[in-house]
Amino acid sequence: MASIFGNVEVGPKIEVFALTKSFTEDTSSCKVNLSVGAYRTPDGRPWVLPVVKKTEIQVAECENINHEYLPVTGLESFTKASVSLLLGEDSPAIKENRAVGVQALSGTGALRIGAEFLFSKLGRRVVYYSNPTWENHHKVFAGAGFTDIRQYKYWNAQTRGIDMDGLLDDLKNAPEGAVIILHACAHNPTGCDPTKEQWTQIADVMESKKLFPFFDSAYQGFASGDPVRDAFAVRYFVSRGFELFCAQSYAKNFGLYCERVGNLTVVQKNSSTTAAVLSQLTLIVRAMYSNPPAFGARIVESILNSPVLRKEWYECIKIMSSRILKMRKALYEELTRLGTPGGWNHITDQIGMFSYTGLNEKQCQLLIDEFHIYLLKTGRISMSGLNENNVVHVAKAIHTAVTTIQN
Ligand code: PMP
Repeated sequence: MASIFGNVEVGPKIEVFALTKSFTEDTSSCKVNLSVGAYRTPDGRPWVLPVVKKTEIQVAECENINHEYLPVTGLESFTKASVSLLLGEDSPAIKENRAVGVQALSGTGALRIGAEFLFSKLGRRVVYYSNPTWENHHKVFAGAGFTDIRQYKYWNAQTRGIDMDGLLDDLKNAPEGAVIILHACAHNPTGCDPTKEQWTQIADVMESKKLFPFFDSAYQGFASGDPVRDAFAVRYFVSRGFELFCAQSYAKNFGLYCERVGNLTVVQKNSSTTAAVLSQLTLIVRAMYSNPPAFGARIVESILNSPVLRKEWYECIKIMSSRILKMRKALYEELTRLGTPGGWNHITDQIGMFSYTGLNEKQCQLLIDEFHIYLLKTGRISMSGLNENNVVHVAKAIHTAVTTIQN
């Protein structure tokens, strides 16, 4: 008898994981992994933040903690701390009980439960993400039921910056009520964030067209080293009276990648809708995975709710963001020293984990094939894969690619 699985086709590879596999299997001593968005120390290793290490031991040894189920919406001390990290302790939205959080399976899970709510409870059918964006946005929204998935312009290849006119035009032409995914800071993959003035323009259009902002905040504090600065856009939209969603991830800023710690913050016009919204989100989570895991959330809430530990966390995010800034400068200086054709200011102008180099697909392939440097075919590189031992090698490879293969 034929198997019922006989017609199942192998799906497309997930590029970033396929590259990491090739990197692991590569035996070259000069190999460099610039694909995965995970922080690395100056000697190329993963980093457990010291404050996280200390706190996880405390959590594990705490006698009052057991492994009973958490509430469906998660650990309250964690969701409250998350909402307040995002909006600021003094936010009127918190004081008026119209901002609430639901614990989620990291940033991806928060996007997914938010998308599901918008689709099934609010009947939203159209979602826009930036072109380009993090490749998972499409899959997450498609998985939640959205079929009308559109893009708004973002990257201008000539200026290697934001195509603001294109972006505003696309938003102006969006149908009323469309969901707009906005990167709260450290846009992935371009590393280009709107300025404060540009956020004002975006908010103006979104307000007049009644578009729904769904912020994706995967790098709060990791981008600039200052969580308040990295929350500017979300706080600004809240101050203008928008109702919104924000998916928060603690993968990068706490280095808790595999623990899947995240939160969906919901900001509403007034508190009268809070109970109903929370109850519907509860039902969505209940049907999807019943309730969230506790360990990572306990670590994050212990740190955020203790002034002493929180200060230690600030020091950690400073270390990570400054190392990345240092590597941006080092790569820029090396390319300039080599006289690599083209402007490279964008390397230092961009912010966060990634840089969109402007290299084309063939140039990227050359880096992989001849220099053992692994990067996405869009030319995105993870700055944390760079260090003082490999930056000269990477710059030399980029120089060779740019001078031998035309753009
Ligand atoms: N959004 C963006 C833009 C990201 O870059 C990431 C991490 N790569 C995420 C969301 C979510 O990641 P995670 O689910 O690991 O928190």
